Amino acid sequence: MRVIIAGAGIGGLTAALCCLHFGHEVIIFEQASELSEVGAGIQLPPNAMKVFKALSIDALISQTAFRPEALEARMGESGRRIFNVPLDEKSLERWGASYLHIHRADYVTALKTALIARSPKSLKLGVGIEDYKLSKKGVTIQLSDGRKVTADVLIAADGIKSKIRAKMLRPDTPRFTGNIAWRAVVPLEALGENAPASTACVWMGRKRHAVTYRIRSGELVNFVGVVETDKWSDESWLQKGNKEEALSDFSGWDPIIKSILKCASPDSFYRWALFDRDPLSCWVDGSAALLGDAAHPMLPFMAQGAAMAVEDGWVIARELSKNGRSVQASLKAYENLRLPRTQKAQQASRSNMNTFHQATVLRQIATYSPMWLAGHILPNLIKKRLDWLYSFDVTKSPL
Ligand SMILES: Cc1cc2nc3c(=O)[nH]c(=O)nc-3n(C[C@H](O)[C@H](O)[C@H](O)COP(=O)(O)OP(=O)(O)OC[C@H]3O[C@@H](n4cnc5c(N)ncnc54)[C@H](O)[C@@H]3O)c2cc1C
Repeated sequence: MRVIIAGAGIGGLTAALCCLHFGHEVIIFEQASELSEVGAGIQLPPNAMKVFKALSIDALISQTAFRPEALEARMGESGRRIFNVPLDEKSLERWGASYLHIHRADYVTALKTALIARSPKSLKLGVGIEDYKLSKKGVTIQLSDGRKVTADVLIAADGIKSKIRAKMLRPDTPRFTGNIAWRAVVPLEALGENAPASTACVWMGRKRHAVTYRIRSGELVNFVGVVETDKWSDESWLQKGNKEEALSDFSGWDPIIKSILKCASPDSFYRWALFDRDPLSCWVDGSAALLGDAAHPMLPFMAQGAAMAVEDGWVIARELSKNGRSVQASLKAYENLRLPRTQKAQQASRSNMNTFHQATVLRQIATYSPMWLAGHILPNLIKKRLDWLYSFDVTKSPL
């Protein structure tokens, strides 16, 4: 099967690797002239790692990643610990793969390296996909350089602002959630005694929360801070922010958070306005299908957007490899298999937004006390709530 992919983000690159694994021919067109992810970290949960294991690239990806010791939650202002659930050998057994943190650039570089090693000419940079038309032969793609290319399948992994989704369905109607996300990355050694622990830590506070974890083999600390505001900007990591504003958003917070913000270089502050979209009920048009953020953009509060894109890649490539049915039927099978799980992740991400931001002390006590209790008495309860996400192995899911 000849597959064309729009976009070489985490979703597109993984889908390309999965297509090669299942014996398809693949070409990715990426509009950017080089692959440069933003300077930030990303959580790489066990459900995504299982796909990389099946593709035999888990070792390559792990090389620059960091394995946290625990999942942790703290109060943002006092630093008081709500829970600390070790990510030990038992978790590895329970979820079937490691939970990692990685720099986005290292992640994309590893995927690109694996792709080039397997198919040196499959990645075409600096060429966008402008449009597509279905035909009896499959799908004809209009490229930004004027060329037209025909293939059996088009996978649109062109991100949250997908042009192909707009053409396939209708123009998007995102709603501003009233939250912006700050990001910053700081060398661990610059933080001295205020370095955050080697955990995946959520810091919760009034109308805001932060997430800290280590990346690049532990050399760097990643910070994401989400704040409720009515001053919104663009839905893009390219929107520059102001260091003083970030410091003021987290004034009165634990010294660890303030140190990270103080140590980050002033020109490294970016803010992303968080928009929400209702789950789509259709991702397929004949021989064209959406994947990753193009299909199911989600708020980042479960750290699962890229992980779901990784799972999508496996399923779409596997379904296309099944004989005895049309491409359209295979793409519909992909959609049917993926919709329930990605919709559940979209909804869970939405509801975490409320959990993380409790505006009053009473609400904080009501929400975080049961978590504290569970963390101390039944830490497995916290793991159990994550089982549906992390234990799932898409490479072994029903065929
Ligand atoms: C604050 C924040 C924190 C997050 N944290 C996590 C986390 O910890 N874990 C996690 O799993 N997810 C996380 N996510 C979500 C994750 O970043 C996204 O879900 C993921 O990057 C989506 O990957 P993608 O490949 O679908 O899209 P993208 O990464 O957006 O890639 C799309 C690619 O397509 C290219 N493109 C666009 N249009 C065209 C075109 N017409 N032709 C050709 N190329 C095109 C773009 O240049 C880009 O390279 C987070 C998101 C945010 C905002």
